[in-house]
Amino acid sequence: MTDEQSRDLYDRALSVLPGGVNSAVRAAIEPYPPFIERGDGGHVIDADGDRYIDWVMGLGPLLYGHDQPDPVQAAVQSHASEGPMYGMPTEIEVEHAEFVARHVPSVEMLRFVNSGTEATVSACRLARAHTGRDKIVVMQGGYHGAQESTLVEGEYDDTSPSSPGIPDSFAEHTLAVPFNDREAAHRVFEDHGEDIAAVMVEPILANYGIVRPVDGYHETLRDLTEDHGALLIFDEVITGFRVGGLQCAQGKFGIDPDLTTFGKLIGGGFPVGAIGGSAEIIEEFTPSGEVFQAGTFSGHPVTMAAGLESLRYAAENDVYDHIHGLGERLRTGLQDIVADHAPEYTVTGTDGMFKLVFSRHGPESYDAHCAGGCAQRESCSRFDTCPKTAADVARGETDRWRRVFWPKMREQGVFLSQNQYESQFVTYAHTEDDVDETLEAYKNAL
Ligand SMILES: *Cc1c(COP(=O)(O)O)cnc(C)c1O
Repeated sequence: MTDEQSRDLYDRALSVLPGGVNSAVRAAIEPYPPFIERGDGGHVIDADGDRYIDWVMGLGPLLYGHDQPDPVQAAVQSHASEGPMYGMPTEIEVEHAEFVARHVPSVEMLRFVNSGTEATVSACRLARAHTGRDKIVVMQGGYHGAQESTLVEGEYDDTSPSSPGIPDSFAEHTLAVPFNDREAAHRVFEDHGEDIAAVMVEPILANYGIVRPVDGYHETLRDLTEDHGALLIFDEVITGFRVGGLQCAQGKFGIDPDLTTFGKLIGGGFPVGAIGGSAEIIEEFTPSGEVFQAGTFSGHPVTMAAGLESLRYAAENDVYDHIHGLGERLRTGLQDIVADHAPEYTVTGTDGMFKLVFSRHGPESYDAHCAGGCAQRESCSRFDTCPKTAADVARGETDRWRRVFWPKMREQGVFLSQNQYESQFVTYAHTEDDVDETLEAYKNAL
C-alpha cells in the first residue's frame, strides 16, 4: 500500500478547501484520507492504485455499489445530454413522486429538494407552520444534517448549539431526549406538550453506531405526538429504500409518521432530498399553501432519472434479497468472530447496514443472543448491556477503533466508514467473497 498521490492531493486540497475536504467526516481518517480515483462494483481504487472492498459506499446513496445497472446509466445519460435542467417541470419528477407515493405507506405527496439537510429544514418549517408551535424534539446523537434547529448538544430542555455560528435561540426551541427511553419521551410531552411541533427521529439511529428501537418505542412516540397534536417526523434519509426495502423502515416497523424525510438512495447517487406525507400537510408548501419552499435544482431531471430507475430496478429484481442476505451473512459471521475475540463488542445493523460497536462492557458469551445483529429483543441474553442510546455507543473504545483497528482493516484491503459512528453499507455489487474476505480481515484485526 502506497499513499503518495493521496498525500500530494491532500496537500493541494489544504490550500483551497478547509481541512482539505468538502464534508467534515472525510478528514476523520488520519493523517490524510485516501483520495478515490474510481469505483468498480463493490470496490474502490484510490489515487495510488490501491484497491479496497468498499463498505462506505458514499455513506448511503449507492444501492448498486459503483456499477449502475444498464437502465440507470441509460436514463442518466439521456437526461444529462438533453438538458440537463430547465427551471420548469418535467415528466420524470412526476413519475418519481408517483413511485415513492405508491410504495411508502404514509406518503401521498412529496416535495423534492437537493439534500437530506434541505429536507429536514423544510420538514421542521412545515411542522412548525402546521401546528403553530416552535419546539422540535430530537434524539441525542440523532443526525438530521447540517441544520440550525437540530445541531444541538446537551440534554432535555437545557440544550445549546453544537456549532459556533448558530444563535442560542435556535437551541431554545430544540429538546433532546435519549433514543429508546420511553419515560423521557413521556416526560418531555408532560412538560412541554403544548409547545411541541414535532418529534423528529431516525427510525434506527443510523449515524451513531446503528441502534435499533426497543419494542414499542416508535409506538410510544406515535401515541404521544397524536395525543398532543404534534407531528411525528421519520427522518428516513438513510433508512429510506434501504431498511425494509421499498416500504422503507416505516413499513417494516408498521408505523405511519406524519412526515418523512428522504435523501441518499432516492437520488441514485446524485444530490437529493424529499419531504413526504399526507396531501393535506404537504400541500401547505408553496404554491398550494403558504409555507415557503423553493430550489433552483429541485427535481433535477438527471437526479430524478437516476433515483427512479434505481428504485424501479430494485422493484423488478432480487436486489434487496441479495443485499439483505449478504448483510445477514456479514453480521452473523461478525458475531461468531467477536464471540471468540471480543465478546463485549456488539454487532449492530439490519438489512443492508452493519457496524461493530466496540462496547466496553458486555456478557462474556454470545449464547442466546439476537442472531444477525443486535435487535434489542428483551429475551436476548445481552439486552441489559447492548447499546440503546447514542451515549452508550460513545462510551465504546472509539480511539481503538480509529487508531488501531481501522488502519489494520485498510492494510488488508477493507475500507470501513470513517469513524466508529457512521454506518457501513452492503450493496448489490458486493459478493459472498467480499463478505468472507472482510470477515477474515476482522478476525486478524480484532
Ligand atoms: C445523511 C443524513 C442527513 C443529511 O443529508 P445530506 O444529504 O448529507 O444533507 C439527514 N438525516 C439523516 C438521517 C442522514 O443520514
